[in-house]
Amino acid sequence: MNENENTQRQTAPAGQGVIPPPPTTASSAEPLSATLEGGCQCGRIRYAVRVEDDGAYLCHCKMCQHATGGVAIAFKNVKKADVTWTREPERYASSPIASRGFCKECGTPLTFEFPDSLHMDLTVGSFDLPGMFRPTHHFGVESWHPRWLDTRALPTYRTDQHKAVVDRWMKTIGKLPD
Ligand SMILES: [Zn+2]
Ligand SMILES: [Zn+2]
Repeated sequence: MNENENTQRQTAPAGQGVIPPPPTTASSAEPLSATLEGGCQCGRIRYAVRVEDDGAYLCHCKMCQHATGGVAIAFKNVKKADVTWTREPERYASSPIASRGFCKECGTPLTFEFPDSLHMDLTVGSFDLPGMFRPTHHFGVESWHPRWLDTRALPTYRTDQHKAVVDRWMKTIGKLPD
């Protein structure tokens, strides 16, 4: 979410031009009544959450870029009351109006939360099955990086065919990770 309540437009720096989004067919969320699970990379923190549809979104705001180290972060908005934790995540007050849940051991970003809201965001990548979701919109587009939006035409490589990585795994644990 964009934590900056001041939405006054500023001139974008060179190379980060705010371009209007291309014409697209809106992607709508489909009903999905399920309890899904997820957690952090080290497994110390796990959650289960009731979801009602498969809609999710990408946040491109500056706060999310800094908080995750990514060019954008995929979030699934859920009701706080529908989330159960095996252990509460640590929380960092990333601004005077919001906090972000994470695992202090492995650093995985897990949540975005306004304390006074009944809803919160869970990071899509922390779900066990991130492919369950579909993006329905972009948020924080005043600071998105257009060059990273549509990358499908770039060359593609598989991890399990990258010799240097495969050799490290085989030498260390004798197999590739699950
Ligand atoms: Zn954001
Ligand atoms: Zn962890």
